[in-house]
Amino acid sequence: MIASSRTEQRSTPPAGPGPDRDPGEADLAVPGHAPRLGRLGAALLRAAGGAIGRFSRQRSLAVVNYHRVLARPDPLLDTEPDVATFHWQMALLAECFNVMPLYEALRALDEGRLPPRTVCITFDDGYRSVHDLALPILRKFGLPATVFVTSGFVGSGNGNMWNDRIIHAVQSLPAGTLDLSDLGLECYSLDSLEARKQTAQRLTEAGKYLPPDQRDNLVARLDRMSGMHHDALMLTPDMVVALERNGIDIGAHTISHPILTSLDDDSARVEIAAGKGQLEALVGKPVRLFAYPNGKVGQDFDARHVEMVRQAGFFAAFTTAAGAITGDQDRFQLPRSRPWDRTPFRFGLRLLSWMALGNRQPR
Ligand SMILES: [Zn+2]
Repeated sequence: MIASSRTEQRSTPPAGPGPDRDPGEADLAVPGHAPRLGRLGAALLRAAGGAIGRFSRQRSLAVVNYHRVLARPDPLLDTEPDVATFHWQMALLAECFNVMPLYEALRALDEGRLPPRTVCITFDDGYRSVHDLALPILRKFGLPATVFVTSGFVGSGNGNMWNDRIIHAVQSLPAGTLDLSDLGLECYSLDSLEARKQTAQRLTEAGKYLPPDQRDNLVARLDRMSGMHHDALMLTPDMVVALERNGIDIGAHTISHPILTSLDDDSARVEIAAGKGQLEALVGKPVRLFAYPNGKVGQDFDARHVEMVRQAGFFAAFTTAAGAITGDQDRFQLPRSRPWDRTPFRFGLRLLSWMALGNRQPR
C-alpha cells in the first residue's frame, strides 16, 4: 500500500516530537520521553496472549505492516512512525511477543507448531529508511522482518514513487490555491497545515486510480512547480543486499507498483514475475513472498492476479485486508494489519485482539 494514502482513523493524537538530529547509533538509546509499557503491562500482555493461545479454536498469526520510518515526525506522513515510536514498538514486540520470520511462521502455522503471541514484521515498497533507520533497531532487539520491494525503484537515484513526489510538492509549495482543474482535477488549498494534509490525501487518493499517463502529467506538473530537489527515498541495490544479509527477508511487490486491475493481463504478469526475477538476481536466492500493490481485495487485484502470483512460484501473498492469519485462508490472499495506537499497552492489546478474533474481525 502506498504509504501516505492510508485512510484509517487514529484513536489517539499523534506522538510528540521525536529526535531532530541525524539518525545514527544515538537513536538506539530509548528516548527519555518515550512511552513505556512497564513490567505490569508487559506481564498482562504476555498472560493475555498465553490465554488466547490456550483457549482459541485455532492459533493465529498477526502480521504488522509498515512503509517508512521517519527521522522525525512529519504532519503530512502521520501514519508513519518516527524513530522513537518505532523503537518503543519494537521494544514491546521483543518483550511481549514471539517475533518470527514470515516464511518460517507460515510454515509453523501449517505444521501446527506456531507459538502463541507470534507476530511478523513487514515493510512495503522498499524505502531506504528501512535500511538506515529501522535495521539498527531491529538488530538491537534481534527481530526479523520482511521488506516487500518494488524492484523498479531500486537504485533509481532520485526516482521517488509518485505518491512521495506529491507529498514533496504539497510540503514545499507556497501557501495559496493549487489549481489543477486543467488536468481534470480540482482546486486544492495550501493555506494551513490541515489544508495541506487534506490536499496531500486527496491528491494521493486521486492519483492512485488515474490512468498512468494522467498521473505522470500530474506529478510532472507538481515537480515543475515545487522544484526537483527530492531526497532519494528508495533502497539502493547495495542496501537490499545488506538487508538480506542482516536477516531481513526480501519479498516482491511488482516492478512499478501499479494497480494490477488497471493493467492488461500480459503487463500484470510481467510486473509480478519479472519483479520477482529482478530481486532474485540481486540477492542470489529465491524470493518466496509477494505483497499486492495497494492491496485492496477485489479492487486493486482480483482472481486473475492471485493465479498469476501462484504461477510465478511464490509461496504466499499478502493483501492489506485487516485480520490475523489463521491457516484457513487462501495462502495467496493473507491479511496484514497496521497498528496505529500511540501507547504501548493499547498497541499490544490491538495485536492480541487480532489474534483473538482471527480473520473474523476488521479493525
Ligand atoms: Zn506498496
